[in-house]
This record gives sequence, C-alpha cells and structure tokens, in this order.
Amino acid sequence: MTHIFHRSPSSPPAIAVHGEGGFIHSADGRQFFDGSGGAAVSCLGHGHPEVIDAVVQQMHKLEYAHTGFFSSEPAEKLASLLASHSPPTLNNVYFLSSGSEAIETTLKMARQYHVERGEPQRRHNIARKLSYHGNTLGALAIGGHVGRRALYQPLLVQAHHVSPCFARHYRQADETDDAYASRLASEFEQLILELGPDTVSTFVAETVVGATAGAVAPVPGYFQKIRAVCDRYGVLLIMDEVMSGVGRTGTYHAFEQEGVVPDLLTMAKGLGGGYQPIAAVMVADKVVDAIVAGSGAFQHGHTYVGHPVACAAALAVQTIIQRDQLVQRSASMGQHLRALLTQRFGDHANVGDIRGRGLFQAIELVASRDPDRPFDPSLQIHAKIKRQAQQVGLLCYPGGGCIDGVHGDHVLLAPPYNSREGVLEMAVDRLGQAIDLVL
Ligand code: PLP
Repeated sequence: MTHIFHRSPSSPPAIAVHGEGGFIHSADGRQFFDGSGGAAVSCLGHGHPEVIDAVVQQMHKLEYAHTGFFSSEPAEKLASLLASHSPPTLNNVYFLSSGSEAIETTLKMARQYHVERGEPQRRHNIARKLSYHGNTLGALAIGGHVGRRALYQPLLVQAHHVSPCFARHYRQADETDDAYASRLASEFEQLILELGPDTVSTFVAETVVGATAGAVAPVPGYFQKIRAVCDRYGVLLIMDEVMSGVGRTGTYHAFEQEGVVPDLLTMAKGLGGGYQPIAAVMVADKVVDAIVAGSGAFQHGHTYVGHPVACAAALAVQTIIQRDQLVQRSASMGQHLRALLTQRFGDHANVGDIRGRGLFQAIELVASRDPDRPFDPSLQIHAKIKRQAQQVGLLCYPGGGCIDGVHGDHVLLAPPYNSREGVLEMAVDRLGQAIDLVL
C-alpha cells in the first residue's frame, strides 16, 4: 500500500531501482531505455561514476551553507564555467533548484530592473501561446499551455500571449519564413502599443519549444525580429532554455543558433543532468548593474539557492560535457537520430512531421496526412503511445498541446548525449513497435 500521492493515483508507476548509462531498471525486473532522459534531463545517462564521486566528495566537505552567509567553491566554479560558455554581456549567474523557480526569478528580476531604473509602470509580461514555462503560479500564468492553466486560472496573475512561431501549422501557404517572422514580430509590437509602450516588462519564449509542441524550432530570423522589437520598447527578452539548453539542441545555448543574446536566460534540466535538482538564470550586465546601482540587492531568494552539493554535481556534469565534447556529439547524434526517424516514419500514414535540433527530436502524430488532420484530442494518442512504448522497454515524452484544433499529438525523444548509434536504432525501433500497436 503506497502513501505517495502519485501523479496518477489510480495507476501507480513502477518502482525504479537502478540506473546505468541510458537504462533504468525497475523493481519488477524490467529494463527501459531512457529515450527522453526523463523530461530531457539525463544528458549523461544514469550512474555516471565521476558525477557520483563529485557529489560524495562535496557531501564530505560541506553539504550546505546558506547563501545569506556564504558562497561555496562549487558554486563559484560552476558560475565561472557557465560564464565561459556565454557571451560576455551575459555572464552573471543566479542559481535555483528548478526550472519553474528560474522562470519566477526572471520575472521578478526584470520587474526590479525596471523599477530601479525609474520605470515602476512596467508590469506586463508577454509570452506565447503553446508554451510551457513551469507549474508554479507565476510560471503557469505566462505559460500558454491551456490544459495546465485551466483549473488555476482564477489564481493566475495577468499575462499576455501572442502567437507561437510554429511554421508547420501557422505560416500561411504563400508566406516566406521571413514574412512569417515579420508578421509575428508585428503582432508582438502591436500588443506592446495596445498595452502602452512604457508598461511592458518582458517577452518570454522557449528558444526551441519542448513540452507543449514537441521540439519546435523558430523560423530563421524570428528571434532577431523579436529582439529588435524588445530593444525598441525597452522590453527585456527572456529566453527559456530549461529544456532546450546545455547542449540539447547541438549548441551549448540554443539561442546561439538564433543570432541573438537574451537579457535573461533560464537553464535547468541538462545543467545537473538529474544528479541533483539545480537550475540557473544567466543575467545580462545591464540588469545586474541597474540593481547594484539602485537598491543594491535583488529582492528574492530561496533556502536552497546555490546548494553546494547541487552545484558540485552540475560542475561535474558540465566538466564532462566539455571534456568529452558532448555538445558536438549531441549535434552529430541528433542528425543520426533524425535520419533513423525519417527512415522509420518518413512514409508513415500517421506521422505528419519529424522535427527538432540536436538530440531533441519529435514526431507529430496525425489522423491523416492528406488532408493534414490531427487526432481527436480526447483519444489521448500521445498518452497511449507513451504507455505502449514503456511496455516494449522505451521511455519517451508525450505531448498533446492541441489548440484551436490545429496542432495535435507528438512524442519527443531526448536521449543522453553519449548514446551510441545502436541504442538510438533500438529506441526508434521500439517507438515504431509502440506506434504500430496503438494505431
Ligand atoms: N520551462 C520549460 C521550457 C520547461 O520545459 C519546464 C519543465 O518542463 C519548466 C520551465 C519548468 O521546470 P521545472 O519542472 O523544473 O519546474
């Protein structure tokens, strides 16, 4: 008899007892390939001895010291390492324990930045439909995941949502990528003008959309046009790379492929790789400078900010990623994974799209390809495929972000960066088996 209030209390999950490399073993003797790294978390796979060692050693040295009194060696070293991967204007780091906390932090930091600069009227946050930024109330408010918001709507602070950048579904037939990006940027600008150009605080977007839409990258030039609008109206650009950052898309930061630099950047899952709960916000100098020159302190904080053991784990994970050139490997193995998915599903009657960057790849399931039609959301096709995949030994990350009946179900793969060709072949094969059994 379990006492845990599970996600689905009526069907408690298997008990995971052991992890090694890309595999998780359950108490009932089954073995699963962790094809989605949980939720794009396990970038090094499970049981990496060097990360375990780093955690144990830090435990022996110092398990915890409150950041009201101390910083710690692993936190300082991790911050330097993250700064070395980032553009010179974005090298201040604020540590947290989860992606949602990181997002909440960016919204508050942006607000304080504006207030310190004498613009207390800046309060509006603009984000996008079909996005996910976390489950705490502030993060949920800016998120565009209709299903996750619905129950809590009365508790949510006001946020504004513009169209996502999702060319497959929303670019018009006669529109170029550039014209589509311009249309989206002008929708954003129009909203700023309606709200009052000096009242907008932030624009928040996932660089590559994960949970709600399934590895959706923007069209070329989109973020440059968004950046230009932000600059025109003094709006801070927050890029959420909780899921898509730290090498997942084939560059250290996903924004490197967009030709822009955000003012605030969130990163989380691949930072600690699942060895400890840790997230970070990278902060532009101008934001830190305004706060330091103003009141002198950021009005925020959590008990476990900069936790030494979490930082030690993340430092080990990031050091291994750098030493073993795993970002490059994410890019090259991502191409391999894409080729395997294309080979297996390119002609599949129920696969409408194969997309993603690096080892962040998804397939979109459709009821029919011609005409392009999603499954009825009530069928919960993605959830059925997830369950069936688990039966055949594959963990994959499902999503069904259907809004206005256009975009349907998808399944996301985000395996560890050090996965070998053979296991990727096995993962795609198992996914194929699961889809064939469901459809
Ligand atoms: N932002 C993005 C893009 C995410 O994908 C997630 C989680 O999936 C979050 C924020 C929230 O992170 P967490 O679940 O660690 O709070």
